[in-house]
Amino acid sequence: MPRIPGFKSETQRERFFEGAKPYVRGGPLARICGAKLRTGGVCTQLALAGEKRCLRHGGPDAARRYRERQKAGLENGSVTPEEWARAEARRARNALMWAWRKDPRLPGRTIDLGPDEAAFAAAAAELGVDVDGLYPAVADWLRWRWRRHQKDRPDAARWRKAVREELPRQRAAADEAVAWADLGITDRRTKAARAARAALRAGDVERAQAAVDALRAASSTAMGADLRRGREAHGGPLTPLPARPWTPRPASDGWKRRLPDRQKAPKPQPMPPRPVGRPRRVPDRPDELAALGEVLRAAGPQVRAMYEAVSRNEDRVKFLRDLADYVNAPDDAGAQRRWLWWVQALR
Ligand SMILES: [Zn+2]
Repeated sequence: MPRIPGFKSETQRERFFEGAKPYVRGGPLARICGAKLRTGGVCTQLALAGEKRCLRHGGPDAARRYRERQKAGLENGSVTPEEWARAEARRARNALMWAWRKDPRLPGRTIDLGPDEAAFAAAAAELGVDVDGLYPAVADWLRWRWRRHQKDRPDAARWRKAVREELPRQRAAADEAVAWADLGITDRRTKAARAARAALRAGDVERAQAAVDALRAASSTAMGADLRRGREAHGGPLTPLPARPWTPRPASDGWKRRLPDRQKAPKPQPMPPRPVGRPRRVPDRPDELAALGEVLRAAGPQVRAMYEAVSRNEDRVKFLRDLADYVNAPDDAGAQRRWLWWVQALR
């Protein structure tokens, strides 16, 4: 425990962690983030120190404060240089990914294949892709795909699919982003962006440019300033820090990605669809249930075997009611249909 300073004794240390148990992640007193998730739940990550939310949900200001605290920690020794470098690399990677969304031509990469770079380029060339001809963002995406399908868990078919089917989509999206960047549009919800969209969709860059120029000339200086700001943001220096260089891991059976996918549980046999109709809401009266029992006794062994095959109690009551309806009125079309459903379902 190099990060926990100043315990007087082993007993004190033990007591401390015993007392801290309710407050750690999953504990009843844990100060969780609680942000609403798209899945419908809430985020159960611990909130950052001094913040209400976790790093993911805290927003840019909380992230900046977190970085400043981390920096102070680096200076006073509670954060190791490795931790700091790792966090900085992650931040640089995130910044690059965001910048690439605006302009995929920006230089940089988030994965370093090291000595495998040549093998990667050769594998791409084999399928007719010149890696140097791709935008850095797209080439970076392809490197990750290559590592996933050729290195982590080799799957030639999946790799081919990535290059033949997914790569063209990536390139098309990148081309569109480049067209927007060339028009100087960073926010696609602006008036100028709306004017350019249709022309751009049709592949007519000149018409889009003309539309934007016309709007730019006509509109107030506010939008001009907006566009200029966008340009400056693009021209600015990018963080040069690459993500951690990738080093091949020794093969081990415990590495998740090297293991084959787990077998999915077999799907339960679906019951045939029930006949449409409102379920009965009348409570089951004892005398009614007794009458249903009579009907079952009278029906014979074959029907009784069907009754035994129904598993849930409320389904059994339904079964008996449908049987009784059918016995009492064999010519009724609805009763016939409901009884036939049971016969088919339990055959
Ligand atoms: Zn959260």
